[in-house]
Amino acid sequence: MLYLVHQFLGETASRMPDRTALIAGEARRSFAGLDRESDAVACALQQAGVRRGDRVAVMLENSIEYVASLFAVLKAGGVFVPVNPSTKADKLAWLLSDSGATLLVAPTALARQVLPALEETSATPLWVGAPLPEGAAGPATDGLFYADLLAAPHRAPADPGLIDQDLAAIMYTSGTTGRPKGVMLTHASYVATTRSIAGYLGNRPDDVVMCLLPLTFGYGLSQVLTGALVGFTVVLERSFAFPKETLARMVKHRITGLPGVPTVFSTLLGLEALKTADLSSLRYLTNAAAPLPIAHIDRLRALFPDAAFHSMYGMTECCTRIATLDPARLGEKTGSVGRAIPNCAAYVAGEDGSPLPPGTVGELVVRGANVMRGYWNRPEETAKRLRRGPQGETLLFTGDLFTMDADGDLHFVSRKDDVFKCRGEKVSPKEIETVLYELDAVAEACVVGVPDPADGLAVKAFIVARDDRALSETMVRQHCRGRLESHLVPKFIEFCDALPKTDSGKIRRAALAEPV
Ligand code: ATP
Ligand code: MG
Repeated sequence: MLYLVHQFLGETASRMPDRTALIAGEARRSFAGLDRESDAVACALQQAGVRRGDRVAVMLENSIEYVASLFAVLKAGGVFVPVNPSTKADKLAWLLSDSGATLLVAPTALARQVLPALEETSATPLWVGAPLPEGAAGPATDGLFYADLLAAPHRAPADPGLIDQDLAAIMYTSGTTGRPKGVMLTHASYVATTRSIAGYLGNRPDDVVMCLLPLTFGYGLSQVLTGALVGFTVVLERSFAFPKETLARMVKHRITGLPGVPTVFSTLLGLEALKTADLSSLRYLTNAAAPLPIAHIDRLRALFPDAAFHSMYGMTECCTRIATLDPARLGEKTGSVGRAIPNCAAYVAGEDGSPLPPGTVGELVVRGANVMRGYWNRPEETAKRLRRGPQGETLLFTGDLFTMDADGDLHFVSRKDDVFKCRGEKVSPKEIETVLYELDAVAEACVVGVPDPADGLAVKAFIVARDDRALSETMVRQHCRGRLESHLVPKFIEFCDALPKTDSGKIRRAALAEPV
């Protein structure tokens, strides 16, 4: 029985050594190749002093080196700390010192932004990529070089003596609502949750999954973990900055799985080329991270009638996954995220954690193998989120408001902090956004409360229109009047070219709500 995350890779590499694990641009790695590459890196990490429980930060774009480093950190006994490569020097120094990372895997190309943080924290660098010409961007010559590690004869790393309750990763949250928090997740959590995910998606070794989500984000990471468990191929995209090219690779590699977030799907739906792209290989699509407007779900279903659509919900604090809707029930339950995944229980609760009756709005609480150990070095924040339930059990309070219907299916209402009062009545932005997205010309929409002398807080909608469609304030209001109570019809509407996003592609509502 596998109980440590990196055993997924070792086991699959011995069962299907030659199967392609990763495709990244023109490069490919078989499972055996990836296993050996991560062995080499793990040995180097151990030689550099990494021991059981030591944090190792990895600041790479989606790449084969990223995945090999992930497994290497675990094999060496370390705790994996992913860092987004676009992180600036100050925040990087903060992340390294907050996590206490002793080693940082980073591209030489980013030496200029990385070196000041290394100096401040005295973390050892492991450089990926060719050494910089002397004097180019500071002395990126100290430390280890990835290319050198691969040249050494193959050795297996020493057994660090891990148990399944050891931490596998500290994942920083998306930072949608403030400074990111380091979420402590154990090997046991990942093993159980990865099995649950692969199970409900029905993953098979002949799957080819498109990973355009950043691997520094839990949802992206879960693609390579399920891939290593099941033995399927993951196509890694560096980013989703060139959607037409990414779409062409989806067709070329005959992908069977497409995980996305709402901004990914709205971008894809806006591509002319999607109409003629042959994606007949596609077996499933998944959405998570933010609610996908029902209008988008309908468009995707019309385009891919034979593919299953999984509407999922989760958070970093729960190994990214909490609930999912059985695709067969999508028609009758559009808009729901279904029920808790295996190895997890989720229900709508009152303040004390006891269940509320169906139809009542309350906070979703979660219990199960996927729940984090707490926030790294943040006892107060941990105590707010992890609390004892009526039976003394540990419950995670998600901070998200939900209702559960009579069938036991969950419906996301809003983040607790996003609800605001207008003319004395509660407003959930999602309800209004759902109606805005019904307009074909709306590519993206975000609703916030803005200070207003008459209403206390008034409803304001930020809208990104599709390039080629005409859209006016009058058209938007007219549509909303027919569909919403009067206090929910946006009083203010602002058209913009783009909305502020987090690294994981989420709309940063808080940035829009700030009074100008
Ligand atoms: P931070 O905690 O740093 O402010 P974040 O909450 O966005 O950032 P994540 O852990 O990536 O960080 O996101 C989890 C949150 O995303 C959930 O708590 C929920 O609010 C939202 N979310 C995830 N999936 C869905 C979904 N299907 N529908 C609605 N909201 C979702
Ligand atoms: Mg959060």
